[in-house]
Amino acid sequence: MPYRNEPPTDWTTAPYKQQLEQALAEVKKQFGKTYPLYIDGQEIMTDDLLKSVNPANHQEVVGYISQATRAHVDQAIAAAARAFKTWRHTTFEERAMYLMKAAQIMRQRKAELMAWQIYESGKNWAEADGDVCEAIDFLEFYARQAIQLGKGVELTPYPGEDNRMFYLPLGVGVVIPPWNFPLAILTGTAVSAIVTGNPIVLKPSPLSSVMAVKFVEIMRELELPAGVLNFVQGPPEEIGDYMVAHKDVRFVSFTGSKNTGLHIDETAHKVSEGQRWIKRVVAEMGGKDSIVVDETADVEAAAAAIVASAFGFQGQKCSAGSRAIIHEAVYDEIVNRVAELTRKLEIGAPADNAVVGPVIDEKAFAKVTSYIEIGKREAKLLVGGTADDSTGYFIHPTVFVDAAPDARIMQEEIFGPVLAICKVRSFEEGIDVFNNTEYGLTGALFSRRRDRLEYARYHMECGNLYFNRKCTGSLVGVQPFGGFNMSGTDAKAGGPDYLLNFVQPKTVTEQF
Ligand code: NAP
Repeated sequence: MPYRNEPPTDWTTAPYKQQLEQALAEVKKQFGKTYPLYIDGQEIMTDDLLKSVNPANHQEVVGYISQATRAHVDQAIAAAARAFKTWRHTTFEERAMYLMKAAQIMRQRKAELMAWQIYESGKNWAEADGDVCEAIDFLEFYARQAIQLGKGVELTPYPGEDNRMFYLPLGVGVVIPPWNFPLAILTGTAVSAIVTGNPIVLKPSPLSSVMAVKFVEIMRELELPAGVLNFVQGPPEEIGDYMVAHKDVRFVSFTGSKNTGLHIDETAHKVSEGQRWIKRVVAEMGGKDSIVVDETADVEAAAAAIVASAFGFQGQKCSAGSRAIIHEAVYDEIVNRVAELTRKLEIGAPADNAVVGPVIDEKAFAKVTSYIEIGKREAKLLVGGTADDSTGYFIHPTVFVDAAPDARIMQEEIFGPVLAICKVRSFEEGIDVFNNTEYGLTGALFSRRRDRLEYARYHMECGNLYFNRKCTGSLVGVQPFGGFNMSGTDAKAGGPDYLLNFVQPKTVTEQF
């Protein structure tokens, strides 16, 4: 079957609504369970436990996860290195089959997987559905890409010689995903390494650990050989730097914030004693993404896209449109419409499918509210600005207007429901403001002028650019995803080149 994106489901209609409500009730009954590490095909329980809580109600413990020590990391890396001896010799087709089976299991368990992340990550129903669909897409897409890669490449014929180039796996990988796409990014980064023949040590974010355990459960159903997938959890100061620096690790696949990414990149590139290679690092990092609107734009469509991009999943997407850069001729009209739409956003529990849920944890709550205070000094507060963490970490969608291009709320990644709007006098000035951050992840332009769209195609500096639509919601295979500059290595997850990050090409010449 050719690859197609997994279709979304409308969970607010029968019979899906009942299915999801039942899954939410079932999952809630399992709150507070304790989960093991998974190393070399064995479960390992430890006394040191990490608590994962419901951000909409921080009294509720979703689960406890065993914490690993450095000795566990050593075990996991050694198990992966042993598994590499045989896993590297399996064919691309064989490995691809595991991914296709995992996709099927995820489809069957979709409501349950959604329920876990609705509780653990604070996603509403559509966001949770999108995340599980994306995880399925990664499995189906990378399976097919791997089969293609296994065929090698055609080289220029040369008389008297047989020349071939083919792709070999790299070795043991450390995979470190973020919490905000708790199943999708975790699945994509883990299976892209596995399908190319690399055993991995997976260390997910503590904030989405239970979701990671569910992924491991699914992969265990496939009976992957022991050591191909190892799962450890633990604090970065105990195990994070240790695993990244480990001499037997061949590559690191990281997705997360700029600061962590830069730190991991630096740690990985320092050669450890006994290390036999230059480590490869894939680091996909943060963004300060914007929507530019010129004076010819469809005002209603632009306002709706600005609100959806800024406040979808509480602004906690790397692609979130946290800035709007608007031409003065349509500024007041758009600002008024953005304010109206934002005021309508209903805040509440993700389990009840409220449009806006909580931010992920206490640290995020403190960070975002501190940026709201900064915003009050730097710009004019138009909507929101209030927050309440008595039950969950709720922050009102907040809009600042008349922000200067160099204001901190226009430059720094806040990663919460805060939008900064800036007025510009011309399209050209809008593009300059768009390009004035250290990031370059996503962006959008609303314009009806073909010449401006063509200019923007090459001059707006970002990895994913959208015309006349929101700047979030890339689809696997359709919009390969990744950013420029301090947004990362632009590895383009879900794209045709992505798997090349985890293989090394070899050329063999035979002379006759
Ligand atoms: P984060 O704080 O940088 O953490 C990401 C992962 O790195 C977590 O698993 C974290 O675990 C781990 N980590 C932290 N320090 C480490 C160390 N020294 N060694 C090894 N691992 C370490 O990011 P986050 O808050 O989870 O995610 C949000 C960020 O990710 C935002 O900046 C967002 O823009 C970015 N993001 C980017 C993309 C993209 O494709 N470009 C996609 C999604 C998200 P601990 O928490 O245990 O430290």
